[in-house]
Amino acid sequence: MDSLWDFPDFDAHELVHFVTDRETGLQAVIAVHSTHLGPGAGGTRFWHYANAGDAIADALRLSRGMSYKNAMAGLPLGGGKAVILADDARTKTPEMLAAYGRAVERLCGAYVTAEDVGMNVADMVAISKETSYVAGLPVAKGAVGGDPGPHTSYGVYLGVKAAVKRALNKESLAGLHIALQGAGSVAGGLARRAAAEGARLSIADIDEGRAKALAAEVGGTIVGTGEIMTLAADVFSPNALGAILNEEAIAALNAPIVAGGANNQMATRDDGDRVQARGILYAPDYVINGGGIINVSTEYLGDGDQDMVRKRIEAIPGKLEEIWQESAATGRNPARVAGDMARRLIGR
Ligand code: NAD
Repeated sequence: MDSLWDFPDFDAHELVHFVTDRETGLQAVIAVHSTHLGPGAGGTRFWHYANAGDAIADALRLSRGMSYKNAMAGLPLGGGKAVILADDARTKTPEMLAAYGRAVERLCGAYVTAEDVGMNVADMVAISKETSYVAGLPVAKGAVGGDPGPHTSYGVYLGVKAAVKRALNKESLAGLHIALQGAGSVAGGLARRAAAEGARLSIADIDEGRAKALAAEVGGTIVGTGEIMTLAADVFSPNALGAILNEEAIAALNAPIVAGGANNQMATRDDGDRVQARGILYAPDYVINGGGIINVSTEYLGDGDQDMVRKRIEAIPGKLEEIWQESAATGRNPARVAGDMARRLIGR
């Protein structure tokens, strides 16, 4: 590869900011894909990468994903994302977070951050001492803000219901079998709502304790992580890792619906066609999982209350239906349809 410009995921990013702070050991990449609709908004990931190239690729891929997600959620925000390159021991110090906050501040609002994998509300508070371009902060009871997870879950639950209505013509999840990959924040919220509606749940997580706790709470069955994607179910809901839908995995799927909150579920662009060829209905990830950023956006922009957040999340099923209808009319798979819609919205 000759340069960053040749990175497959570069996709004409507006800005890529490399940060080194020798005193605190901070190394970070801040990527802003598009500010066409507003400031580039997206979380900061704190992760140990095998090499710097992987970190850059992750930042670019996630940042473009945020452009699409924010546009499809109808938010006045562009897309950005940052990664902090953690060491082997994942050392995270207040000084490092302060240096990171100063780096965000230097971009004068072109990038607005929040939580992502490896970062929590307390980290956002630390960062907010150095910059105001941050959301996902703790708020008073009843105000908009805080952990985006429950809002993402709510949108995913509504998206699963919309997919069930379209593919199975059922109004309720009662009696349906949902296979959940992951038992974390997003999966947990979905599981509680689905169980309350009478769904039967199978749950897999590499963290056995988490799987056990959730299964006990919602009356679900624990399944091995190697089995969950091939289980005969009504819905397969990925809520753990990205890039799980590859050629082999898609061939082995045993559910008529794939709908879950994990980011970047398709391993390659062709995998959307493969899912469609199997007659499986797919809910594009960055549309169904927009609930968290809707909450973050409303907090950051101060343009609504909890009621408004709920209304905005409740628009997710309508957007999915629009995508599925266009997909049915054109024969193009839902991931491609959603990608084209998003690119039009960001002027590309
Ligand atoms: P989380 O860390 O709370 O939960 C993820 C769970 O997945 C963990 O319990 C982890 O042990 C498990 N896991 C990891 N690898 C696994 C594997 N191979 N098989 C089974 N389980 C595995 O994270 P979360 O906040 O629930 O996010 C879940 C997914 O949703 C992620 O892809 C995230 O990027 C995406 N997402 C989250 C939000 C949000 O608001 N939290 C918003 C949008 C998208």
